[in-house]
Amino acid sequence: MSLHGSYDSENIFAKIIRGDAPCYKIYEDDDVLAFLDLFPQSYGHTLVLPKHVEARNLLDIEPEKLSQLITVVQRLAQVLTDELEPAGVQIAQFNGAPAGQTVFHLHFHVIPRFAGEDLAIHASKMADKAELEALQARLQQRIGAL
Ligand code: AMP
Repeated sequence: MSLHGSYDSENIFAKIIRGDAPCYKIYEDDDVLAFLDLFPQSYGHTLVLPKHVEARNLLDIEPEKLSQLITVVQRLAQVLTDELEPAGVQIAQFNGAPAGQTVFHLHFHVIPRFAGEDLAIHASKMADKAELEALQARLQQRIGAL
């Protein structure tokens, strides 16, 4: 998929937003949804996306909507680092397949980074569901105060 093109409303994140596919949701407001990545690059890897825009990538979104989105990215990065205490936190965002994008609904990755772990861009192993559920409950409790 190139950088430009039309939005496909059957992409997996559009389905999750509509409630047609499941996710391990950790945060939602009127404009933004955040859930755990199914193939996490690290413990706590979270995806943050806008709900009501048909944006394939960063170039497609209105600046005002982008501001709302990045504000939540920052808040969740704070929550994840407070709760999981990684040594670092990576914020990643890819535009177009050659840049590493695989799902064509704009999203930010918030990836806690722990000392000594790989900096791989994509993980190949699906997370353990029980671990995701436990992490979801832990983060939801902390995020409840947001
Ligand atoms: P990107 O390469 O930036 O497009 O990232 C897409 C991310 O979505 C990858 O990290 C995938 O592991 C993740 N992903 C794909 N399908 C799902 C899903 N159904 N639930 C949660 N994460 C997903």
